[in-house]
Amino acid sequence: MSGRRVKTAARSSLRRYRAKRNFRQTREPARSRRGSSYGSLFVIQKHDASHLHYDFRLQVDRVLKSWAVPKGPSLDPKVKRLAVQVEDHPLDYGHFEGTIPKGEYGGGTVMVWDTGTYRNLTKASGKLVPIKRAIEAGRVSIWLNGWKLQGGFALIHTKRPQERNWLLFKMNDEKTDARRDVFKADKSALTGRTMSQIAKE
Ligand code: MN
Repeated sequence: MSGRRVKTAARSSLRRYRAKRNFRQTREPARSRRGSSYGSLFVIQKHDASHLHYDFRLQVDRVLKSWAVPKGPSLDPKVKRLAVQVEDHPLDYGHFEGTIPKGEYGGGTVMVWDTGTYRNLTKASGKLVPIKRAIEAGRVSIWLNGWKLQGGFALIHTKRPQERNWLLFKMNDEKTDARRDVFKADKSALTGRTMSQIAKE
């Protein structure tokens, strides 16, 4: 895609994100700034909203494709976690840490629980499927290089019982570890802060 087409695509895909938020009330970013580019960023944000959840985000072009994972990720391939696809977020959201005011959409504290880069592993008939098409097809395999999470993960669209439902799970590889508690180190991968430290600011 040319730069201009990518920008237009990002703008229209962020319409739902913007419609839900009042940017005079929240410090969440309204857009992807010109020039922000990380290649293949992934981020998992711990979000203490009305229900605590983990937002799993993958950079595709200039937006973050996003899923809300109520229980967060697991390193045990037998544990498949519900991941509900939500609206695309701006690329700059990957750095957002702070508190969304009460009463605003998603009100509550957000921590960058993990971040890093990902590599697309999705293949069909032995050929690599571009990440955008893999998401459209509902079958995604990626390798995460994060501070907390490493290794292969799959995201599979189940559609049932809800159209937006996917499953997130660890694939079998040398990074599989059924015993490691990924939630033990509960500090920001970006700033080292705890949820309560972020909430106080
Ligand atoms: Mn959220």
